[in-house]
Amino acid sequence: MANPAADDGALTLARRADHLERLRREDFDLLVVGGGITGAGIALDGASRGLRVGLLEKSDFAAGTSSRSTKLVHGGLRYLAQLEFALTHEALTERYVLRDLAPGLVEWLPFVLPIFGSVFELGKLSMGLWLYDALAAMRAPNLHRRLGRQGLLELAPGLKQDGLLGGFVYSDCRTDDVRLTLEVLRTAVGQGATIANYAEVRGFVKDGAEPGKVVGVEVADRRSGESFAVRGRKVVLAGGVWLDRLLKLDDPTASPRIRPAKGVHLVVPRDRLGFDVALFLPTAPDGRLVFVIPWQGATLIGTTDTDYEGPLEAPLATAEDVTYLLESVNRAFPDARLQPSDVVSLQAGLRPLVGAGSGATTRASREDRVFETPSGLIAIAGGKLTTYRRMAQRVVDLAVRRLREAGHRVAETVCLTDRIPLGAFAPRPTRSTPDLDALPAETRDHLRRAYGENAAAIAAIAREQPDLGERIVPGLPNVKAEVIHAARHEMAQTVADALARRAHVVQLDRHQGRPAAVEVARLMGQELGWDEGRTSAEASRFEEDIRQFSAGEVMLR
Ligand code: FAD
Repeated sequence: MANPAADDGALTLARRADHLERLRREDFDLLVVGGGITGAGIALDGASRGLRVGLLEKSDFAAGTSSRSTKLVHGGLRYLAQLEFALTHEALTERYVLRDLAPGLVEWLPFVLPIFGSVFELGKLSMGLWLYDALAAMRAPNLHRRLGRQGLLELAPGLKQDGLLGGFVYSDCRTDDVRLTLEVLRTAVGQGATIANYAEVRGFVKDGAEPGKVVGVEVADRRSGESFAVRGRKVVLAGGVWLDRLLKLDDPTASPRIRPAKGVHLVVPRDRLGFDVALFLPTAPDGRLVFVIPWQGATLIGTTDTDYEGPLEAPLATAEDVTYLLESVNRAFPDARLQPSDVVSLQAGLRPLVGAGSGATTRASREDRVFETPSGLIAIAGGKLTTYRRMAQRVVDLAVRRLREAGHRVAETVCLTDRIPLGAFAPRPTRSTPDLDALPAETRDHLRRAYGENAAAIAAIAREQPDLGERIVPGLPNVKAEVIHAARHEMAQTVADALARRAHVVQLDRHQGRPAAVEVARLMGQELGWDEGRTSAEASRFEEDIRQFSAGEVMLR
């Protein structure tokens, strides 16, 4: 039976050096390439079935698409409109599963959907929402409700009244995509998985008994520059938009499977719109729907959806993307007059859509596809954050089948992840500790919300050294002890790993956390053994890493 996140491994990712040592030394049943949500889910599913699992991520965990989503665990009304009933049903069902496994990390949120101008649209959406509730087996905490103009204005003051016919309120869930990925990985480590970030797969090992079959991967450690091989019986590719590149490492003639579609979000201060409900606005210039989501004390607005052909690393938002999103909101809230100068940060992500492209990316399916190559690789393309657990199940079911066919014993053949609570967000009674109680209420609340049970560990760090209880930047609740925790327990290797992913300082601070870079590099250096030269190089590298999030940079381009 799986260990339900009981040991200390569940609350720390442990030292990267120890994981690397094991990757070099041990043989694995399952090697996962990619440490976004898809790879993390596969690692947890495999490890909890008793497989020896290794996972390799070329950058930081979740640094690809899995940190750039709209942060929704949702069925997706849009996909219903495209008649993707199976996907919508699976996603709606997963909301309940994930909410049960990690309450506090996956939270219900009311979504307001106003309708302007067209009675036909009102009727169509009413039917759509009935179907949405039906596909969720009528289980939402609040089934959708119709709202009149007054009801809408109470929830979203400032909404344009001209043409406003009424609307709806329905429920979906919000999460923190990076934290979800880290908690799934943390739980996988608790179940025995071995993982490393900055470990890039650059080739496949094919020297086994069967000619042409993959029996491992060639890895480059991007922190030390060393290369080594890791051996695994089944290699699974969960490389998101990089999948085609990985397939070509195996077979240079492999046909492309992925169509990257860019989606941009921007963050504005909460008080610019001034409400705490989420909105789904039908006011984009091209008639698409745009989300406005209360997020981390600010407001997240997104997203665009366009074909993308540029470099896959760090895709950039453009001035047109910003204009599109601001215009979408300003059309619904004319008095808000959002300007580019209101934008605190931006981020662009690439959807790993399946298939060659024709037609708008908005109409392309969000379903995932699992397939095998003649060399024995298993690969997964497409999918959603919401459905990562079911995607992982499909991949590991196939891997287990292949392992058993090859005569290997597998402890558990069935998926167990619907009953394994997620890391520091497992449903346990909230514990108060003297270290936490000693912190100011705002810091305490922030730590509990952001780190679940690990809030106590961060409070203990702040207690050891009181200056670590100080804020990283003015105006945000994050404290320096989070940086120590990120380096010590969450495998953060760079300043951006700490400030752009484990904490969201880069997205929530108008200066992207720049004034703190030198101090954060110093703190991380203490933990990771950097000398003075290295510490200063890491602080400078941060400037490069965060340019993509900076609104000023985009408006200047
Ligand atoms: P990624 O997160 O990109 O992970 C792939 C990883 O593989 C990367 O970290 C990469 O570095 C690594 N990798 C690649 N090559 C190698 C190599 N050679 N060696 C080692 N590692 C390698 N879904 C939802 O459910 N809800 C939403 O609200 C939502 N909003 C979205 C909004 C936008 C704008 C976008 C773009 C997507 C959104 N999605 C949403 C979809 C969801 O974010 C993605 O489906 C999901 O994050 C993809 O995860 P992944 O692990 O497959 O890919």
